[in-house]
Amino acid sequence: MRSHYCGQLNETQVDQEVALCGWVHRRRDHGGVIFLDLRDRDGIAQVVVDPDTPEAFANADRARNEFVLRIRGRIRLRPEGTQNPNMPTGMIEVLASNVEVLNTAATPPFQLDEHGKVGEETRLKHRYIDLRRPEMIDKLRLRSRITHSVRAYLESQGFLDIETPILTRATPEGARDYLVPSRTHPGEFFALPQSPQLFKQLLMVSGFDRYYQIAKCFRDEDLRADRQPEFTQIDLEASFVEESDIMSLTEDMIRQLFQDVLDVSLPAFPKMPYSEAMNRYGSDKPDLRIPLELIDVNDLMRDVDFKVFSGPAKADDGRVAALKVTGGAKLSRKEIDAYTDFVNIYGAKGLAWIKVNERAKGIEGLQSPIVKFMEGIIESLLDRVGAEDGDIIFFGADKARIVNEALGALRVKLGEDLDLYTQEWAPLWVVDFPMFEADDAGRLAALHHPFTAPSSSPEAFKADPANALSRAYDMVLNGTELGGGSIRIHDQAMQRAVFEVLGIGEEEAEEKFGFLLDALRFGAPPHGGLAFGLDRLVMLMSGAKTIREVIAFPKTQSAACLMTDAPGEVSADQLKELNIRLRQKAQQGGNGEA
Ligand code: ASP
Repeated sequence: MRSHYCGQLNETQVDQEVALCGWVHRRRDHGGVIFLDLRDRDGIAQVVVDPDTPEAFANADRARNEFVLRIRGRIRLRPEGTQNPNMPTGMIEVLASNVEVLNTAATPPFQLDEHGKVGEETRLKHRYIDLRRPEMIDKLRLRSRITHSVRAYLESQGFLDIETPILTRATPEGARDYLVPSRTHPGEFFALPQSPQLFKQLLMVSGFDRYYQIAKCFRDEDLRADRQPEFTQIDLEASFVEESDIMSLTEDMIRQLFQDVLDVSLPAFPKMPYSEAMNRYGSDKPDLRIPLELIDVNDLMRDVDFKVFSGPAKADDGRVAALKVTGGAKLSRKEIDAYTDFVNIYGAKGLAWIKVNERAKGIEGLQSPIVKFMEGIIESLLDRVGAEDGDIIFFGADKARIVNEALGALRVKLGEDLDLYTQEWAPLWVVDFPMFEADDAGRLAALHHPFTAPSSSPEAFKADPANALSRAYDMVLNGTELGGGSIRIHDQAMQRAVFEVLGIGEEEAEEKFGFLLDALRFGAPPHGGLAFGLDRLVMLMSGAKTIREVIAFPKTQSAACLMTDAPGEVSADQLKELNIRLRQKAQQGGNGEA
């Protein structure tokens, strides 16, 4: 039906006869001549229809926006003065000899170039129309180029693409499971995988040596942040490897990807221990494009006559940290108040600050509600943070966790608001994570997942599991965690020991992970791997603001699909077949019994 995509036409093809298929992007009637902008996934071409081709003219005349047309015609240069150098096809137009209406279209719920006037809900409800927008097509095309580059790289390194089940047992990655009732096993449920973690480890036990998969994962989380209940990972695993093998392989893969797709050569990936990242940036995924750092001032604040500072400075789990912003003294009171509200979200009770107007004048040259308490230590404090005229210093004083979260987030916000970025791409590895984190009740949970190997010997691990470090690593780019992985436990006794620390007793371990523990007895090789979040990667590479923009059919914040109206009610018969009785009668559907 077609000889070219609309966007492929240019002035080198003048006088060629072409056949185009696409949608009417715009139609203009110019005193007897009709101009049609015809759009397909590659771009837009201008089509001119003259009245001296009456049949073509009549069809063009009845065409409306989003009608589907097939056009035959000849390419010619646009007349002088009507060329549009901003458009790839802007030098030429197609003089139509034939216009065929392949299908009509009802008036769309929004015009493509006016999508900003309707809410995201309308766009999601009619996603197939929203996806006609060139920006959306570009993003999904970029996504396809990304997966292509990744596959090509991994295949070149001997990785095999192997699928793992979607109907399976729970794989703990720290979220709630999506469950699927089994009809053939009444009262029993499958879980959708939170990741292919256990299967990829089992593939290593089988000897596949190098596995990868672009895998759908399912996590039933509260979708506060920019998350999706189903998302995609670039998942990989290899045998007989150490941390450095997986890290250099995946770093190389990402480097090549950026080169292939964006023509960007990424800078070096520094390695930073988790503890250093938390100390200097208040985050385990620091945005190194921003040249601000948290500086410890505990020692200076222990004896100041200001409890808000001296209390946390003396407490075991407390922290007092400073964040100096060069040139920040110009921030207004109102702006500082807004930052105070901002840190409140992270649990900080306030945001103390000192403006350095004229350092040479000593305390007189400073402006601050708290400086009166600091007299004895002020010079050491200013030296510590390297304060100069025109700077502002913010402080956080609380439990270390709160200070890190609050000042860490403030650091990122200031970087954004004041445009402090020093480079476009700032990758790094974060390493030496703790094995566990404790909740308020002191219960330990795996920071990565329970299959991650500790860096210590089994004896040292057992002696002090709470403080053990793990063999996990995260790749971070511009403050986003792109991927994370680890060297795994391949020894059954060690795996049992970790389950025990996590409060998973023998019986439960057997019940939930018996197959893994079993497999570890049958010659499991040392192995490790990593998974990248594909959606986030595409978002970063395309400059999109949310991951919804880089997923063809995303769900909303409340984990629903507005287009298909999923999740939906099911019939009483279906429920009966599944042996399920709803506790509450659904309001109208009548699909359950009370
Ligand atoms: N399964 C892990 C995750 O989903 C990644 C890995 O350890 O390879 O985060």
